[in-house]
Amino acid sequence: MAEKKTGSKKEDIRSRPPVAVVLGHVDHGKSSLIEKIKEIKITEKESGGITQHIGAYQVEHASEGSKEAKKITFLDTPGHEAFSAMRSRGSKVADIAILVVAADEGVKPQTKEAIVFVKKAGIPMIVAFNKIDKPSADLDRVRRELDQQGVLVEQWGGKIPVVETSAKTGQGLHDLLEMILLVAEMENLVADFSAPAEGVIIESYLDSKSGPMATVLVRNGVLKTGDIISSASVTGKVKMLEDFQKNPIEQAFPSTPCLVVGFDGVPAVGEKIKVFETEESAREYVQIELKKTKDIEVVTAQEGQKVLNLIVKADVQGSLEAIEGVLKGFPQEKVALRILKAEAGEVSQEDIKLASSSKAKIIGFRVKTNPVAKILAESQNVPVIVFDVIYDLFQAVRNLMEKYLEPEVERTDLGRMKILEVFKTEKNRQIIGGKVIEGEIKPSTKLEVIRSAGGEEKAVGKGRMISLQKDKKAADKAIKGQECGLLFEGDVKIEEGDILQSYVEERKKAEL
Ligand code: GDP
Repeated sequence: MAEKKTGSKKEDIRSRPPVAVVLGHVDHGKSSLIEKIKEIKITEKESGGITQHIGAYQVEHASEGSKEAKKITFLDTPGHEAFSAMRSRGSKVADIAILVVAADEGVKPQTKEAIVFVKKAGIPMIVAFNKIDKPSADLDRVRRELDQQGVLVEQWGGKIPVVETSAKTGQGLHDLLEMILLVAEMENLVADFSAPAEGVIIESYLDSKSGPMATVLVRNGVLKTGDIISSASVTGKVKMLEDFQKNPIEQAFPSTPCLVVGFDGVPAVGEKIKVFETEESAREYVQIELKKTKDIEVVTAQEGQKVLNLIVKADVQGSLEAIEGVLKGFPQEKVALRILKAEAGEVSQEDIKLASSSKAKIIGFRVKTNPVAKILAESQNVPVIVFDVIYDLFQAVRNLMEKYLEPEVERTDLGRMKILEVFKTEKNRQIIGGKVIEGEIKPSTKLEVIRSAGGEEKAVGKGRMISLQKDKKAADKAIKGQECGLLFEGDVKIEEGDILQSYVEERKKAEL
């Protein structure tokens, strides 16, 4: 497979802009910070007032005492979804995490979750104490709460830098940019500025007019118009490149987000892209990557055991882990639960393909289904069920498992009757007479025929009572001591002296 080769020289390896991601609890001001930085840094003069939402943007900032402005790329999808979708596909996208903590609220559940993500990603963190303009801001409390999460800030002798910001007034935003550049410098972020591009899809959708659109963040090398490209699921040829300000560009350098027109389908967020010599080798790459997904081992349970195959998608890694934990704890003696894939991020074509080939159900928690996957799901009849409430999700999985179970039948015995005479015998029907010796008997109930042989009672067949008569009149029951006649239908011929056991059965939904 001919991936385009690099002929890089030493001087092509240069420092590249840092890519920053903003994380933190809901309402702590992530979007506001992202917007405010855009507002103060991207002047109308530069952009003609136009910026387009392509999942990331770049600003330039000159550090104090330095004339040279440096670029910073911001992922502008705040929150954990995009970040974890990328991480789950093994793509490293962000170099620096900005943990936003509202100074008046302190550490909240998603703050903790973000800390876990960042630690797992192994990237440096800068804490922004946001909403510093609020009188209720309590910085000491936030520092203490962060410390409890293992985040020891600089003022307390730790290594994590803190910047005090207000997305409302703009206070501290220059300091934040300054700090990002400083951390980036310490990280020594470099890339090859001449190699064929490698990048990551950070956003993708299907435009009704222009077809598949995707934002590629170039990680290394240069992406050029005319390049033959491929992600893990779709190939294409770069027809047009645009920067986040809608400017057409001929090439995109490392850490640059760019809108790519020319993919043959919609690639999934987090997929890596590569450049190839020929369209054939690009297609070959997709075949290999798709096969990797198909080859996921579908574990079979013991012979005869029912299995529910599941693909679980969740908004963030934290909820995913919680969901998996609970599902794995479900009783599985009667129906085994196999989680073929558990991933953060939207429901993708790959998920639908896997579900279709493995007869799995897709269960989502606070996720969307990408538009192409939706069409695929409909055509392949793959159910995708998405929940907003975690309890509902658990209940639905339980119900799906219980559907595999045979209903449990509960039998209640009503009464017994001794056969005194057989009046008439037809093909599978008989008219018989007898006496109730225990309990009561009723029409429309089931009957078991019991015969005594050698002093032992034995069930010899089953049937049902069609109608009951007492004193030659239809009756709705006969009780102990009464004589009656009945029309029996069943798989056995009743004989004089047999006993009929009358009973009802109730089918109950089986539980796991
Ligand atoms: P996100 O959910 O973390 O993206 O939070 P948003 O950016 O949507 O902000 C949530 C709310 O806090 C909005 O009403 C913002 O106007 C407000 N907000 C954000 N940053 C600040 C700030 O620095 N100071 C004050 N006073 N309000 C802020």
